[in-house]
Amino acid sequence: MTVPSSSSDLPSAPSSDPGTRRAELEDALAAVRARVADAARAAGRDPGEVGLLAVTKTWPAQDVALLTDLGLTAFGENKEQEGAAKAAELAELRPEAAPRWHIVGRLQRNKARSLVRWAHAVDSVDSARLVDALESAAAKALDAGEREGPLEVLVQVSVDADPTRGGAPVAEVPELADRVAGCAHLHLGGLMTVAPQDVAPEEAFATVSDLAARVRAAHPHATALSAGMSGDLEAAVAHGSTCVRVGTALLGRR
Ligand SMILES: *Cc1c(COP(=O)(O)O)cnc(C)c1O
Repeated sequence: MTVPSSSSDLPSAPSSDPGTRRAELEDALAAVRARVADAARAAGRDPGEVGLLAVTKTWPAQDVALLTDLGLTAFGENKEQEGAAKAAELAELRPEAAPRWHIVGRLQRNKARSLVRWAHAVDSVDSARLVDALESAAAKALDAGEREGPLEVLVQVSVDADPTRGGAPVAEVPELADRVAGCAHLHLGGLMTVAPQDVAPEEAFATVSDLAARVRAAHPHATALSAGMSGDLEAAVAHGSTCVRVGTALLGRR
């Protein structure tokens, strides 16, 4: 397994020339796709089963525009305000693109009402109170004609239950998934996880993969398992990830 922990093949600073930046992103995207495909084949999986969410936090909308030119259709942000601004800017830069925007970071409940105006998915739902806030915000936004369709929700699992990193403890996840599934304006997509620093990623992803199977047994349509980032995507794909969330390996060091 090749995990480029130092990412030494990445340019130290992104190019400010759009043509050069596009070429940088194209190379990085090809490398990430190759890593995902190799990991999928090694696990006996079809590479087409693993989606790619480009995590664009801290990077400009111009980079998102270039990534849409290269065929990417899903982007992740960890802050509501930054995401809202970038989504609006991208709509100016690439009116035809219409990508899907995901929130992948910790979300305060008072941001729910703004978020449902522009985001398609929240991958980091970890409490009943947040579920209720999103349901009520999505209902209001639909009523007001500010969004179409339900908000896609993933329940974030914290394997080590460290409260500072976000995510619900394993034991609470089935009940949270049930709660999301019971909301008229939310759609339960599945689970998300970030491997904890002090647990081997293989072990963390194996735990979440078992949990995802339990959740799927109760909610057969909840097939998404968002797991794996720049440093550990191979281990996640080996354990059934259906979506890797990649920032650094695509865009460079933040
Ligand atoms: C930043 C972030 C990523 C991407 O991490 P990289 O290591 O830069 O690929 C993925 N998931 C979440 C939740 C993040 O906050």
